[in-house]
Amino acid sequence: MQQYQELNSCETCCLGFCRQCGREHQLPAGAAYQASHVLMAELQAEGRIDLHLPAEEADARFSTDYLFGPARGKMFGVMVAATQAGKIVTLRAFSGQYNGFWEIPGWVGPMFDPDGFRMVHDDEERKIKALGRQIDAWEPGSRQREELTVLRRNMSRRLMVDIHALYRLKNFCGQVAGLEEIFPPDMGIPTGTGDCCGPKLLQYAARHGLTPHGIAEFYWGRATASGSRQHGGFYSSCRGKCYPILGFMLCGLKERRR
Ligand SMILES: [Zn+2]
Ligand SMILES: [Zn+2]
Repeated sequence: MQQYQELNSCETCCLGFCRQCGREHQLPAGAAYQASHVLMAELQAEGRIDLHLPAEEADARFSTDYLFGPARGKMFGVMVAATQAGKIVTLRAFSGQYNGFWEIPGWVGPMFDPDGFRMVHDDEERKIKALGRQIDAWEPGSRQREELTVLRRNMSRRLMVDIHALYRLKNFCGQVAGLEEIFPPDMGIPTGTGDCCGPKLLQYAARHGLTPHGIAEFYWGRATASGSRQHGGFYSSCRGKCYPILGFMLCGLKERRR
């Protein structure tokens, strides 16, 4: 009962500030809370996330052991939504990549095209890593080391700009915008923005004509180093990465749900 009251007060919900409307938009967990418990029970029983496969075909890379090791746990999200025909569907997402994978059957993928990401990211990332090894070969404080460090910083920044350009967010007013248009101009865009469960699920819904009724996000695995997230705990969408974009993403949803 206490959990339910918490949900009503929107302590566990998707929320963000919408610059167009000049106010916050929210989507409480609602039915997604119950649906999250179904997912938790499956994760607990199966110990893996490739739930589309029979147990004997399971891939060790998708075992939940990964979440209890050095990489630590991860946020999982569940969305309950209605199709245009009025059918209720449940969709699931994990935050960021799972053990290096963006796409796993049965889970909503990233909001960008993963092939496009690989094209922009992989070569540059290799170059940046190689540069790191060169930097280490020079004495600390040497001119060469300084120059290479500046070069690496600039390359990383450029890569981040190129990666952010892959994100085209759609909302429930039918608008599409990039991260740089949505974020307040005086705010830097944190790494991993758009990769949390809430944005992934909302993007999927907006693109596929679904009307979300609720989203819940919970943490599964070894607690974060700071202890801020605990195994099995429900949490609202994050402040740093999600709050600035979820206002835009949720815009128009309330009107649609009426
Ligand atoms: Zn987030
Ligand atoms: Zn709005």
